[in-house]
Amino acid sequence: MKISGYAAIAPKTLLSPYSFERHEPQDHDIVIDVHYCGICHSDIHQINDEWGGNSKFPMVPGHEITGKVASVGSKVTRFKKGDNVGVGCMVDSCRKCDSCNKGLEQYCTGGGPILTYNDEQTIQGVKIPTQGGYSNRIVVNQDFVLRIPSNIPLDKAAPLLCAGITLYSPLIRWNATHGKRVAIIGLGGLGHMGVKIAHALGAEVTVLSHTLKKQNDGMKMGADRFIATSDLSVLNSLEGYFDLIINTVSSNLDLNRYLRLLALDGVMVLVGIPENDDRIGAANLINSRRSLAGSAIGGIAETQEMLNFCSKNEITSDIETIKIDYVNEAYKRVLKSDVKYRFVIDIFNSFKHKQVG
Ligand code: NAP
Ligand code: ZN
Ligand code: ZN
Repeated sequence: MKISGYAAIAPKTLLSPYSFERHEPQDHDIVIDVHYCGICHSDIHQINDEWGGNSKFPMVPGHEITGKVASVGSKVTRFKKGDNVGVGCMVDSCRKCDSCNKGLEQYCTGGGPILTYNDEQTIQGVKIPTQGGYSNRIVVNQDFVLRIPSNIPLDKAAPLLCAGITLYSPLIRWNATHGKRVAIIGLGGLGHMGVKIAHALGAEVTVLSHTLKKQNDGMKMGADRFIATSDLSVLNSLEGYFDLIINTVSSNLDLNRYLRLLALDGVMVLVGIPENDDRIGAANLINSRRSLAGSAIGGIAETQEMLNFCSKNEITSDIETIKIDYVNEAYKRVLKSDVKYRFVIDIFNSFKHKQVG
């Protein structure tokens, strides 16, 4: 199947138009006309090969995909042509290991989940690269396709597929609810979803942002307090305060400073993945029996649960919609924290003349 997309041909290069083939749909596959795709900071890390040299090129990024079912394979039971659907960071997993059996496909130990792009998939014995949603069509097994609830528009739904689930999962796992004091570090794509979801779960929410520039927006999203982390006296006055801190920042911070803000038995969860490792002082964990944890996206069932939660609570992403030819400029702006609060590419209209059927 001939596909039109945008790819980086080599590390740290600009994205440019790229045509490629996707595998022919199998019995359990769904062909999706991509309408929208969010720009996640992970796209930028991987294009720049910042995660230990594991990037594969040419790379078509994009794992916040929404669109409409164009056709279904002969054994597909869960979807039909025209349905509003989404695809997140995974397109398959081993389906046999303990993690997969528990619905935690993102922690698959049978070779790891197959990522939507920058990975390989075996179709009828042939290994092929996976390519993401900066492209007009994608072919995905029905078990890794999500249903987008009817009250969430496809553009504002796209960022839920990565940013939304990446914050929902740890907020649920560490019980962010009434009476809990939650801090979100970084009000970007992930962070703004975290504020909205934590607020809807009933937690008291504080944003720790590097300036006060986003304060009004953060309060409108449901934050109870907004702190500029550059003001160390205010930050230090919150020592021992929080039950849960989620760090969404894409670059290195002095985590020790933030660990000290945790109360007894408090937990800091890392979801941001900076290029370099951090240094942790043991005393900051030992005092107040604090924990440091990490969390990756969420399983498929949990992602559907998150979409249904967002539908019920009328939560969507705050987006700036762009055409694909603006993507390189958009990347520069993400790196400057200059986006409110997720760029979403209007894929359908960017490749309109190339749509078929
Ligand atoms: P983003 O939209 O760029 O947001 C990151 C935020 O971090 C910025 O808005 C900014 O917030 C803050 N920030 C950036 N640079 C900073 C600096 N030098 N010092 C202090 N604060 C800074 O990125 P995103 O798409 O939300 O992704 C965030 C990170 O999560 C990335 O590393 C990404 O790869 C990772 N990620 C992980 C998972 C997972 O499963 N664990 C899933 C998706 C993404 P303020 O302006 O408010 O300070
Ligand atoms: Zn992502
Ligand atoms: Zn598995």
